[in-house]
Amino acid sequence: MTIYDELGVRTLINAKGPATRLSGGIMRREVAAAMAEASQACVDMAELQAAASTRIAEATGAEAGYVASGASACLLLSAAACMTGLDPGRMARLPDTSGMKNECVMVRSQRNFYDHAIRASGMKIVEVGLPDRYAGAGVRDAESWEIADAITERTAAIFYVADAEARPAFAEVVTVAQSHGVPVIVDAAAQLPPQSNLRRFIAEGADLVAFSGGKALGGPQASGILAGKRDLVMAAALQHLDLDVFWDLWEPPASFIDKARLKGAPQHGIGRSCKAGKEEIAGLLTALKLFIAEGDAARHARWLADCEIIAAALPADCVTISGRSDEGSVPTVDISLQGATPTATELTLMLQRATPAIAIDPFRRNRNIVTLNPMCLKPGEAEIVGRAIAHALA
Ligand SMILES: *Cc1c(COP(=O)(O)O)cnc(C)c1O
Repeated sequence: MTIYDELGVRTLINAKGPATRLSGGIMRREVAAAMAEASQACVDMAELQAAASTRIAEATGAEAGYVASGASACLLLSAAACMTGLDPGRMARLPDTSGMKNECVMVRSQRNFYDHAIRASGMKIVEVGLPDRYAGAGVRDAESWEIADAITERTAAIFYVADAEARPAFAEVVTVAQSHGVPVIVDAAAQLPPQSNLRRFIAEGADLVAFSGGKALGGPQASGILAGKRDLVMAAALQHLDLDVFWDLWEPPASFIDKARLKGAPQHGIGRSCKAGKEEIAGLLTALKLFIAEGDAARHARWLADCEIIAAALPADCVTISGRSDEGSVPTVDISLQGATPTATELTLMLQRATPAIAIDPFRRNRNIVTLNPMCLKPGEAEIVGRAIAHALA
């Protein structure tokens, strides 16, 4: 009897990928074991975060790192850090930003649901650029001069959402940021693989970068990595850690939080609701180590094998595997439903109502295509998915 049996909750086969709505992915045994082990002793959280900082710095090339409850939490902490610096008075005041630089410049085409995390800090998003998809004059997007043009004395950061399609190119944005002395926050939540992205944005000049712990890294679903400049990470930590402390008794590791530079402890900051426990931190650091050890080629081959099992069960004329030859990508199975029935919507519903339920990705259902992502499949599940879809199409 599993915990889900006991709770009366059905489990599902996740061929959609690590969506939060579907509980993320499957952690490796080693990651789950690290979480269980961490749960059996108490530690000082500042010391544990300082150790995480060292590991994250090694993995990313950043000066420092931090763990919070997700990439989204890391973005909120990033925005807060860029507004407050190391001033505990400002930290205590958020989300009231009076007296602070409180704007971030963001390219309009990069706006997305997750930028709520930035706004939740009290930071205001100033949009630039008009991505013209309709005029027929060719697709344009923001240019770096437009970002420069929007920078004022109120600008606390430039917020960049990394993606292969993101415009302008990251290097151009960094040039603008550095020439104006404004930090750049990068949302790279879903930019792994390729593994090289762990280091890429930092190497190219990002001040803070957020990665999800529960996506390709294979860490706990409620974890995320923040990597970046030492002072900004320190400002983030100060707004996340439980600082219900007596100042004279508080002894955080000086390499991580330099108490000598503070005029006081800010107590519970705006990030207090983004808590990560010792179990998440231990699990995430273990997952990060395994992710780096596996490497893109082996990971891609593992995922591709599942894609091939699914594709082999289906009529060849409607199936393609994307990303087959790109080791730095997640290969997927795309099924083009050109017959009358089932449609992409119908197939998605049939599978989610089946026993066991199978989740697939209908994001291109307007073109009658469904996508299967192998990242969260367990051994043996690709066969079940292939058979279930073949049956539904027959
Ligand atoms: C998944 C995602 C997030 C949120 O990450 P969590 O780790 O779930 O908080 C933020 N931004 C983008 C672009 C994402 O894909």
